[in-house]
Amino acid sequence: MAENKIMLGEDQIPTQWYNILADLPFSMPPVIHPGTGQPIGPEDLAPIFPMALIKQEVSTERYIDIPEEVQDVYKLWRPTPLYRARRWEKALDTPARIYYKWEGVSPPGSHKPNTAVAQAYYNKQEGVKRLTTETGAGQWGSALAFGCNLFGLECKVYMVRVSYHQKPYRRVLMETWGATVVPSPSEDTEFGRKLLAEDPDAPGSLGIAISEAVEDAVSHDDTKYSLGSVLNHVLLHQTITGQETKKQLEIAGDYPDILVGCIGGGSNFAGLFLPFAKDKLEGKTPSLRIICAEPEACPSLTRGPYAYDFGDTAMMTPLLKMYTLGHTFVPPPIHSGGLRYHGMAPIICALYHHKTIEAVALHQNAVFEAAVSFARAEGFVVAPETAHAVKVVMDEALKCKESGEAKVIVFNNSGHGHFDLGAYDAYLSGELKDYKYPEEKIKEALKELPKV
Ligand SMILES: *Cc1c(COP(=O)(O)O)cnc(C)c1O
Repeated sequence: MAENKIMLGEDQIPTQWYNILADLPFSMPPVIHPGTGQPIGPEDLAPIFPMALIKQEVSTERYIDIPEEVQDVYKLWRPTPLYRARRWEKALDTPARIYYKWEGVSPPGSHKPNTAVAQAYYNKQEGVKRLTTETGAGQWGSALAFGCNLFGLECKVYMVRVSYHQKPYRRVLMETWGATVVPSPSEDTEFGRKLLAEDPDAPGSLGIAISEAVEDAVSHDDTKYSLGSVLNHVLLHQTITGQETKKQLEIAGDYPDILVGCIGGGSNFAGLFLPFAKDKLEGKTPSLRIICAEPEACPSLTRGPYAYDFGDTAMMTPLLKMYTLGHTFVPPPIHSGGLRYHGMAPIICALYHHKTIEAVALHQNAVFEAAVSFARAEGFVVAPETAHAVKVVMDEALKCKESGEAKVIVFNNSGHGHFDLGAYDAYLSGELKDYKYPEEKIKEALKELPKV
């Protein structure tokens, strides 16, 4: 019997990140300053990010060295296993060969520390004492709390108020790693106080929490801001997973026909697929399909326009060209907190625009049905975000069953769902509702897009 999981040794962890900006056959739309309407320069970002990360954001070097201190921390859980989903293949009765890269083995339980650790390191190097960030369900906040703790930085997390109250355990995890967590909107920023004055029960949103975290960073000299997805440097740090996966598939003697991942801001899936997209862009693997899975309740790629928009609600961030539902977007209350962002990573958007990658939108009941099928075969209970990828893989595997094709399907199993059992409970008890984001709301939000 062939193996179930393909392991690498610690000495096989990639020592460089892969930068797709070196290999894109088109140029990326510039990031625009909302005040001047001109492309931004490094000095515009200096109040919020350390210079090393600003440089990575615009670098066109193909490979960027991972600092040794960061490699050392990665070794706590990397390399992560690549599993062959033999039991699930059997349960689905499919000839497809399904593999998953298991990122749930990190201490915070997802792919997010791949960038959190690197970001904490570069900030520490430049003398920063304190990092601020936002978090929805708490996955990013806990990853940054973990990273900051290892490098001796203070960490302040603005947590979307509904999640703060509904999901206390991620907060406890952040506090265990030494972070300070407040519900957003909060009394700690001007923007938060303004929103609370208008509505003391304001539920908050990711866009609002970003505004508060950015305001906190720009108003304190020793503080910078950290973002867990969307930006080029975050996607760069995540390419550690795709590079490991390539080596592991080589050992297995396979190459993907289809790559699948869920997309919130796009970082986990980009981390997996960018090293393979390189092959496709070079014409080596033209038939490789790269499929992004997003919720019907937050369909940025499948239904948003490709336009310049703010990254936050208070309109403080630079303008990014992305598929967007509008910076005023207030997400419906679906259970995958990590997929409720209005925009999407500009790199993903550009590749989608140029048709290198595809996207599908899914309803959450179908998503949880697939996740339960996976859990009953493979054992792992995946995060609600990841479950979107699981659903697409299941659909593709069942198509293979129809056609008799033995395709190789690989997905990023981005994290475990142990803090999301409330969502599984809602599904199992038949109380989960499907939401399709209304067309009128997309049209309304379009009117609020900045003119560039
Ligand atoms: C945050 C999160 C996501 C979504 O974010 P991306 O930047 O798109 O990866 C997906 N899966 C898990 C487990 C997450 O924690």
